[in-house]
Amino acid sequence: MNKIFIYNTLKRKKEVFIPISKGNVGMYVCGPTVYGDPHLGHARPAITFDVVFRYLKKNNYKVRYVRNITDAGHLENDAEEGQDKIVKKAKLEQLEPMEIVQQYTLSYHDAMRQLNCLPPSIEPRATGHILEQIEMVKKIIKRGFAYVVNGSVYLDVVKYNKEFPYGELSGRNIEDTLEGTRKLDSQSEKKSPTDFAIWKKASNEHIMRWNSPWGEGFPGWHLECSAMSEKYLGKQFDIHGGGMDLIFPHHEAEIAQSKSCHGCSPVKYWMHNNMITINGQKMGKSLGNFINLNQFFEGSHKNLTQAYSPMTIRFFILQAHYRSTLDFSNTSLKAAEKGLQKLIEAFEKLDSLKPSKESSINIKEIIDRCYKAMNDDFNTPILIAHLFECVKIVNSNISGDLDLISSDIDLLKFIFEEFMVSILGISPISKTNSTQSLTEDILNLVIKVREQAKIEKNYLVADMIRDELENLNIKIKDTRDGVVWKIKND
Ligand code: ZN
Repeated sequence: MNKIFIYNTLKRKKEVFIPISKGNVGMYVCGPTVYGDPHLGHARPAITFDVVFRYLKKNNYKVRYVRNITDAGHLENDAEEGQDKIVKKAKLEQLEPMEIVQQYTLSYHDAMRQLNCLPPSIEPRATGHILEQIEMVKKIIKRGFAYVVNGSVYLDVVKYNKEFPYGELSGRNIEDTLEGTRKLDSQSEKKSPTDFAIWKKASNEHIMRWNSPWGEGFPGWHLECSAMSEKYLGKQFDIHGGGMDLIFPHHEAEIAQSKSCHGCSPVKYWMHNNMITINGQKMGKSLGNFINLNQFFEGSHKNLTQAYSPMTIRFFILQAHYRSTLDFSNTSLKAAEKGLQKLIEAFEKLDSLKPSKESSINIKEIIDRCYKAMNDDFNTPILIAHLFECVKIVNSNISGDLDLISSDIDLLKFIFEEFMVSILGISPISKTNSTQSLTEDILNLVIKVREQAKIEKNYLVADMIRDELENLNIKIKDTRDGVVWKIKND
């Protein structure tokens, strides 16, 4: 088994990974709030922790990977007052909140499948765990770390801070936090502006509501992750992941909730992926640079000069270390597309390598370096650099400039299979992963079937195919070079 080093946000340093329970690893990653189309901000944590999941499994750990779906309690602007994000969208589209949840959960799953992210072991939803959340609130009140005001329950951060250090993950102490928050207005029910809601009383308009010992209400946004991670991974588990933007207040609040409830730290290794910018700018709906994943796959956003396949997006994200920022632009995506193509072409050439009697290269040493890169806090850009070294070797052998013995060829095949396909999750059949090229392939197939029908003099079928395609606005024409098709724009 490899000695894997993980950068622990909590300790601010790399640590050797030793799971709490031998052989079994519990990993929790904050999933999406399902009220809109999946975008790049969803893709980066999903791909980052997919690689962690894949690599730990490769190292013979049995991993229970839990990624939640937030379908209640996440209010606008991550605030404590205002509308639930899902309810707001439901009103806008005149649908039931659960129809919104279903629609965007399905589109999230579809995007994750296209990006070749393995599904998590468990995908719990906040609304399916209201009882667990109420039980947790009860325990926190009982231990004296929360207070009830007018049907809402707040975690008493000042009191908590006397027993446990508040702010250990974000590095913000309670004084910093006090300075950063607005003074309490006279209407506030909180004892201190640092306190946060773990249960909120539902106003009359708030339609996602549940009965509780404190009246009808809904859980605070941070609570679901504490309750669900405990349910499926225990009071203490190995890895908790998410985007850096979640460190404060979300993950800091999770720590406070779990410690107030059980008195112990819930997580051994906190891992955070860095953020994505677009052309150097923060992504945001108001900035007009908010591109969702399907728009990337189809090239249908005004800022995109072409479509980018899901594998290009995946490869592009993995070309940067997960703790580095990553800037998306057409130029950098095109470069990633070219790089990926080279990698896949080399993979396809593996079977045509020619063995010699002597070898002039040490492939085993490259394998060691590949593991070393992954063991060093999942350093995918270094791993990719080693893969490109292999691309060079493959091409040099084919052009007759480099000798390889047959065991070298086997090792090269192993490198591509193990590191490119299994660990990085780069699917070598990238072409069919783009909806656009898949459509083209299917269309070509239909035309081939029509050609065959014509050869067999089955004109009924041939004409039917032509007419049905016409109905779909696709015009086919027989030319000297074969059949061509074109989408009619009228
Ligand atoms: Zn969370």
